[in-house]
Amino acid sequence: MEVKAVLPQRGAKAKAASLYENVRWQFHEAADLMGLDKEIRKILAMTENEIIIHFPVKMDDGHIEMFTGYRVQHNSVLGPYKGGLRYHPSVDIDEIRALATWMTWKGAITNIPFGGAKGGIQFDPSQHSRNEIERITRRFTFALGNNIGPEYDIPAPDVNTNAQIMAWLLDTYLSTMPPHERQRCTHVVTGKPIESGGSLGRDKATGQGIVFTIEEWAKDNNFDLSKATYTVQGFGNVGSWASRLLMSHGAKLVAAEDITGTIANQNGIDSNDLACYVAKTGGVAGYQGSDPIGHETFMKVKADIFIPAAMENQITADTAPWLNVKVVAEGANGPTDPDGDAILKDRAIDVIPDILCNSGGVIVSYFEWLQNKRSEFWELEEVDSKLHKRITRAYVKVRDAAKEYNADWRTAAYIVALTRLEKVYKERGIFP
Ligand code: NAD
Repeated sequence: MEVKAVLPQRGAKAKAASLYENVRWQFHEAADLMGLDKEIRKILAMTENEIIIHFPVKMDDGHIEMFTGYRVQHNSVLGPYKGGLRYHPSVDIDEIRALATWMTWKGAITNIPFGGAKGGIQFDPSQHSRNEIERITRRFTFALGNNIGPEYDIPAPDVNTNAQIMAWLLDTYLSTMPPHERQRCTHVVTGKPIESGGSLGRDKATGQGIVFTIEEWAKDNNFDLSKATYTVQGFGNVGSWASRLLMSHGAKLVAAEDITGTIANQNGIDSNDLACYVAKTGGVAGYQGSDPIGHETFMKVKADIFIPAAMENQITADTAPWLNVKVVAEGANGPTDPDGDAILKDRAIDVIPDILCNSGGVIVSYFEWLQNKRSEFWELEEVDSKLHKRITRAYVKVRDAAKEYNADWRTAAYIVALTRLEKVYKERGIFP
C-alpha cells in the first residue's frame, strides 16, 4: 500500500516534489491525523480513470499539428465527475491528476453532489489564433466523446479557458448527439456564456467565494477589512474578481503580478481600472497608476492579505520566508507546497486553503448545472446568497475541524472532505 514513507523527503534541501506528490502528501497527513479507514484510504489515494488523447488539428496555414489532451477522473462516489479544463504548456498527467484530486475534496467540503475531475491540453494559447483555439477545442471535445456528459463528467473554465471556449465545447458535444437528445444536454459544461445557458454570477463566483471566506476570517480575527491592504498574484478571472470585490470593502490593493510583470503602489491601485487595462493590453505590466517591481520584492511586500490566484507551487521553502502578510487566501489551486505550508505555520501566517477558499467556482457551477436541468434562470441575488450560505457553512466546518483536531486549516479542510467520503463509502460498501 502507498504510504507517506514512499513520498519524497520534504524540506528546503529536498528535490521539489511533483504536484501530485504534494496532494498525496497532504492527503496522507490528514488521513493519519483523523485515522481514515485504511481500506478507504487505498481507494481515495488513486484516480479512477485517466484519459490521454493525441489529436491532430489543422492550423490556419494548412499544416497539421499534433496536440496532447488529458482528462483525469479522480472519484465519483458523491456524483458526476466535475472539474475545469486548462490550456497551458505545463499541463501533463501529473498536474491534471493533482487538480482532479483536489476537485473531489472541494465537492465533499461544500456538500455538492459532484466527484472530482480535471482536464487540459498542453499548449500555449497565446501562440495560436482564435480560429486555431476553436478547432483545438472542438477536436479535443470530439475526441473525448462520451468520456464527458451532463450526468457523467462536466467540464468548466480554468487557466486560459473561458466562457467562449465552453460555448464551443457545448456546441461540439451537442452536434454529436442525436437531434432529439440535444436540448436535454446543455449541462454538459458549466461556465458558459449567459445566452448559451450560463448562470448569472458564474464569472465572478470564484473571486466572490474567496472574498466571502476572507470576510469570515476577518470576523474571526476582529479585523477591519475596510483598512486592509492586499496583494494579488494572477489578474485573470479569479484574481481580478477577488481584487475588485475586496476593494468594494474599502481594502487597498498595493501590488499585483501576472505573467506580463509586477506592479506596486503603496497608495492603492484601482482594481476596476486595472481590470479594464488588462482586458485591453493583456496584462498588468505598464499600468500607469503604479511602479514596476521584481518578483522577489512583490513576494516581500508588507500587506494584510496575499491572494495567490495564478499557478501552483508559488509559496515554497524558498519563498514562504519572504511573505509579510497576516493571511494567505488561496485563489489558485495548489499555490503552497507542503514545505511552504510548514514555514507559514511556524511563522503564524494563516492560510485559507484552496479547496475551501476557491470553491465558489464549483459551487456556482453546480447552480448552473441545476438551472439547466430544471430549465430555470436564477437572479444574481439568489445565486450570491446561495453561494454565501454554502461557502460559509464549509468555512465553519473547517474551522471547527481545525479546533477539534488541533490541525492547520489545510489538514482540517481535508479532514472535513475525507470524513464525508468515508461515511458514504461505509454506507454503500464496495461492489460486489
Ligand atoms: P486565468 O487564465 O483567467 O488567469 C491566470 C492568471 O495567472 C493570468 O493573470 C496570468 O497572467 C497569471 N499567471 C500565469 N502564470 C503566471 C506566473 N508564472 N506568475 C504570475 N502570474 C501568472 O485563470 P483563472 O481561471 O483565473 O485561474 C487562476 C487559478 O485559479 C488557477 O490555479 C485555477 O486552477 C484556479 N481556479 C480557477 C477557477 C475558475 O473558476 N476559473 C476556480 C477555482 C480555482
